Amino acid sequence: MARTLITSALPYINGIKHLGNLVGSQLPADLYARYRRARGDEVLFLCATDEHGTPAEIAAQKAGKPVAEYCAELHDIQAEIAAGFRLSFDHFGRSSSEQNKILTQHLATKLAESGLIEVIEETQVYSVTDGRFLPDRYIEGTCPNCGYESARGDQCDNCTKQLDPTDLINPHSTISGATDLETRATKHLYLKQSNMRGALSEWIESKTDWPVLTTSIAKKWLNDGDGLQDRGITRDLSWGVPVQYEGAPWTGMDGKVFYVWFDAPIEYIACGAEWAAKQGFDDAAWERWWRTDKGADDVRYVQFMGKDNVPFHTLSFPVTMLGSNEPWKMVDYIKSFNYLNYDGGQFSTSRGRGVFMDQALSILPPDYWRWWLLSHAPESSDSEFTWENFQSSVNKDLADVLGNFVSRITKFCRSKFGEEVPAGGDYGDQERALIADLTEKVADYQSHMDAIDVRKGANALRAIWVAGNEYLQSAAPWSTFKEDPELAAMQVRMGLNLIGLYARLSSPFIPDTSGKLHTALALDTLDWPEDVAASLASLTPGHGFVVPDNLFAKISDEDREGWQEKFAGVRS
Ligand SMILES: [Zn+2]
Repeated sequence: MARTLITSALPYINGIKHLGNLVGSQLPADLYARYRRARGDEVLFLCATDEHGTPAEIAAQKAGKPVAEYCAELHDIQAEIAAGFRLSFDHFGRSSSEQNKILTQHLATKLAESGLIEVIEETQVYSVTDGRFLPDRYIEGTCPNCGYESARGDQCDNCTKQLDPTDLINPHSTISGATDLETRATKHLYLKQSNMRGALSEWIESKTDWPVLTTSIAKKWLNDGDGLQDRGITRDLSWGVPVQYEGAPWTGMDGKVFYVWFDAPIEYIACGAEWAAKQGFDDAAWERWWRTDKGADDVRYVQFMGKDNVPFHTLSFPVTMLGSNEPWKMVDYIKSFNYLNYDGGQFSTSRGRGVFMDQALSILPPDYWRWWLLSHAPESSDSEFTWENFQSSVNKDLADVLGNFVSRITKFCRSKFGEEVPAGGDYGDQERALIADLTEKVADYQSHMDAIDVRKGANALRAIWVAGNEYLQSAAPWSTFKEDPELAAMQVRMGLNLIGLYARLSSPFIPDTSGKLHTALALDTLDWPEDVAASLASLTPGHGFVVPDNLFAKISDEDREGWQEKFAGVRS
């Protein structure tokens, strides 16, 4: 049995994500996981919340909660919303887990043994009142360039000038407002990424099948002078994986934690360990996915992410994996995405612009969103969400093409033959032509899904739905019934079998709808129709069904206008 390991980029903990975040990694990863499972693969699909770092501390502080408590709450909220979109993770973990702590400390030790870690002394701003070093974002003051009074230590949000904390006029701590700041010497661990340039280059060059978007970003960063700098992997924070621990190969790191960019990708592996622990399995269960000396050699590992995450996944994380000199399973394919824009501008978390995941589910069921987002995935370029496009796509593709087909054929059957598959004669020329056409179309659909071409996959699936509609239009059982009820019965039998075929083929995109059709038609399984002809003969005369409730409600102009207005503004 083929084995596929799938990870989605980890959503950061500090709030609910918008639809642009969803379509940039988690949703297409889910589509692929569902497709691979349907094709019979053994799949391990992992995702987790990324919980460490300064933004989590600041968000917790704003919420007036201890950071651990804040992260636990936000993790549960994100997990619930993910379930609402039917994201079928085998495990949705947490980068603050014990497993990640152990693995992060282990890998840092291995990197030190490989000579890839260096202790560097630098000066940093220290707040006497707060009793701690302040990360750049914890320092605010007046911008020397434009006079903006709330410029951060790393950048002025008003004029976008990059700053050093020491550039600020009247700097103060954002934790306490204290102004008794001074610069002090502090030591940090640096990962010598530049030492790995040769190994990385060889590895990236070997990936000839990667999408252009992934490879072009990876090579730009690899070969750009600044791209592969040695980078600090520690911070003077309390929230994170401790750098100092029993057996640590360095001293003087008390009170420091690993920088979030170092421990977050390691959570991909640790998430597997969390999954095994939760299932009551031993370590061998996750190691067979992640260690090539323990069975992961025949695993195909696919990562999903937005384009901004590509450098970390093609350079930094591989430095950790390769530099450890341990046999970790490296990624085989990186599927990256451009950005989804919102109605003439950008989605903005800070300004609350656009539709956020919880809001989306509060107005419509998940399949409406899944279908639009996936059929408009920002693959070859950025794409844009507009309410007009969303309305038209839902109304045409889902309501008119798929929903209407199901409704017409099941209701017609009920009124003329009752709620069971009618007999009629054998399939004729028209049906044989349809089967041949659909066999080709299903092969086309599969080839796009195998290649993880999400939009092309959606188009191919839509073409399969359309072919059934055209058949029904042309066969017209409601006309033939008057002259030849036997012929009409056979045509209806084909129509009901088409619904079964659609339920199977559509499940990666619209799982709830597939489930409804599965139930209404009392299908034995939702197994993939490897043989289209056999699948279209699988519902035999006498097989009972019920007419399902209307599958999709059309979006009215009034709804559209209301939502357009509601989501234009500021989310509190
Ligand atoms: Zn400024």
